[in-house]
Amino acid sequence: MRILLTGASGQLGTELRPVLGAMGEVSAADIVSPTDWKGAFHKLDFSDPDGLDWLLQQVEPDVIVNAAAYTAVDRAESETAVANAVNAAAAGRVAEWASAHDAFLLHYSTDYVFDGKAQRPYVESDSPSPLNAYGESKLAGEQAIRESGCRHAIIRTSWLYSAHGHNFLRTMLRLGRERSHLNIVSDQHGCPTWARNLARVSGIVVERMGAREGAVDDMTADSGIYHYCDRPATTWYDFAQLIFRAAAARGLIERLPQVEAVTSSQFQTAAMRPRNSVLDTGKIERVFRIEPARLEPSLEACLEDIQGQ
Ligand code: NDP
Repeated sequence: MRILLTGASGQLGTELRPVLGAMGEVSAADIVSPTDWKGAFHKLDFSDPDGLDWLLQQVEPDVIVNAAAYTAVDRAESETAVANAVNAAAAGRVAEWASAHDAFLLHYSTDYVFDGKAQRPYVESDSPSPLNAYGESKLAGEQAIRESGCRHAIIRTSWLYSAHGHNFLRTMLRLGRERSHLNIVSDQHGCPTWARNLARVSGIVVERMGAREGAVDDMTADSGIYHYCDRPATTWYDFAQLIFRAAAARGLIERLPQVEAVTSSQFQTAAMRPRNSVLDTGKIERVFRIEPARLEPSLEACLEDIQGQ
């Protein structure tokens, strides 16, 4: 199986490389080159349509795993054109190619396609209504993929963290070392998800849906949207407390900072964020027979990775 992995240097892409590497011949692409990667690599700006076409023609993938994205949620408010070029136009172009060449596309989207007004976890069929430009661009990417008619799975996920890249866990570890007092938002609910768990789930999806002849067993897995996140849901405030306790126990921070709960309105950011972005994972559990990973052991395993760096 020839696999093209875009966004290979990002936090999810980094975790996807070994998983996909065990399944086929991986060509990695990103705007910056990945560390510790000995396979084929193509440097590519996703907002360059000609470069994208060239890459697809060169690699001729059977499977495209698109982990490239413009993920700077606040900056997207002022850089809307770039966010749309990467998250919507490029995703659509890849999907058109996949449709024309019968390739399978695994793409990622976000809890931020929802407005957070629901009083329960969001299912795939709930109507999206993004509150910010990033969510708008990701929703446009989903729509372009669905309209292309290619074989695809779009996994919406939430609150990704890993030992690499920009994420809440690494920010908390840095701030926990620098400051004795922190204000953390306590009225946004979501499911922190270890990128490695999502990479493992992605491997299962590619194994089932990636083969040109279709599913490898008697269960059907239709093209469409699937929600995956670890469980249980929490708030940024409670997640921060969990991080600090676990990090202090491992000696990653010297002392527990004092953490104060604040509301979203007290903690102004350029982009609005949903109050509830908890995703219901029932569909992916049923179709792919998977059990979502648990937050606490996943966080411990990720901290162990960080400790070993
Ligand atoms: P990252 O930002 O860590 O990785 C995305 C990768 O894409 C980075 O290496 C980034 O490079 C690269 N990239 C950005 N712009 C371009 C461009 N113009 N051309 C080529 N490559 C580019 O994201 P994650 O791994 O966290 O996210 C993976 C997926 O999950 C994305 O689809 C994201 O929308 C989705 N998601 C993420 C969540 C999160 O909390 N992070 C939550 C929900 C969904 P660089 O770092 O240099 O910008």
